[in-house]
Amino acid sequence: MKITGFAWLAPAALALAFGLLAPPAWAVWREKTEAIMGTRVYVEVWADDDAKGDTAIEAVMADMKRIDELMSHYKPESQLSQINARAAQEPVQVDPELFDLIKRSLYFSEITEGAFDITYASVGHLYNFPEHVHPSEAQIKAALPAVNYKNLLLDPVHHTVRFEHQGMRIDLGGIGKGYAVDHGIGILQARGIKHAVVTAGGDTRIIGDHMGRPWVVAIRHPDDPNKVVTRIPLSDSAMSTSGDYERYFDEKGVRYHHIIDPHTGHSASKVRSATILGPTATETDGMSKTAFVLGPEKALEIINRMPQYDAVFVRPDGKVLYSNGLAPPEKATAPSHPTRP
Ligand code: ADP
Ligand code: MG
Repeated sequence: MKITGFAWLAPAALALAFGLLAPPAWAVWREKTEAIMGTRVYVEVWADDDAKGDTAIEAVMADMKRIDELMSHYKPESQLSQINARAAQEPVQVDPELFDLIKRSLYFSEITEGAFDITYASVGHLYNFPEHVHPSEAQIKAALPAVNYKNLLLDPVHHTVRFEHQGMRIDLGGIGKGYAVDHGIGILQARGIKHAVVTAGGDTRIIGDHMGRPWVVAIRHPDDPNKVVTRIPLSDSAMSTSGDYERYFDEKGVRYHHIIDPHTGHSASKVRSATILGPTATETDGMSKTAFVLGPEKALEIINRMPQYDAVFVRPDGKVLYSNGLAPPEKATAPSHPTRP
């Protein structure tokens, strides 16, 4: 429920006119959508007044643009592109913020035995989904030895990054949006905002609730954006969905899409969509790729051992799998249109 001015303002104006009320602080929901990081960024906050809400939202949007300038692999002048251009020849020094996110990515690789691996880009860059281009088997075979997070060397003293293999590349597309969402939430919290949602692409984090109730987020059907697989009530948590329907093309019955199994160089095919719920969007973003590559059965085994995470998977046969923490009512048959948070 959103409070829109009128029903509240009319009695308030009367009360003020009769001297019954001190000038009140009219808390409001403010929201904005922008295209940043090649995706849709959505911020909604509960603030004391319009101006405070809007400046807080602008601060988050500006921060997302800053992070994109630093970490985009599409922008040749970004520090990340500098790494890709030079790190096979020499150590490349980067800002601590980028250094730390690369370090975090390596940690994800270690705990997932390379299912999550930002060096996947060494083969990933051979795909061009809008142009329907995929590498040949020979090209994959030639590029695959460069996919290995162990060849990404970090020097924590000098904040340098070096590639120990020619032809290596990295991209942070699998964790950067989650990181940007968490950073945006930090900015809102520093401004005293207690209830908000920040979304970038498939990554969302929520603080507080929505007028005393959880927000409700919908997981879409992989084949139909207007159909909902399930709805999940969320407050004070993060959620990331990775799907094979985001950036893809089909050729001769094979779906080529943007989540790549680093061990094969092919698009991961064990699942159609993987949704992870957890405390921060950086974690859920990294884990949604991991779960996608590992497949639902193996991922559920792991997630069911970690009480702070939950997951929903849509399998290629259409079956929906849930982690143990998601109660049965959320599994009920979903109505046929999605709900925005
Ligand atoms: P979104 O960008 O909409 O949030 P995802 O979170 O599913 O979507 O991230 C997909 C991106 O993850 C890909 O475009 C690519 O940049 C990156 N990626 C793909 N496969 C891997 C992998 N195995 N490990 C790490 N990152 C990956
Ligand atoms: Mg993501």
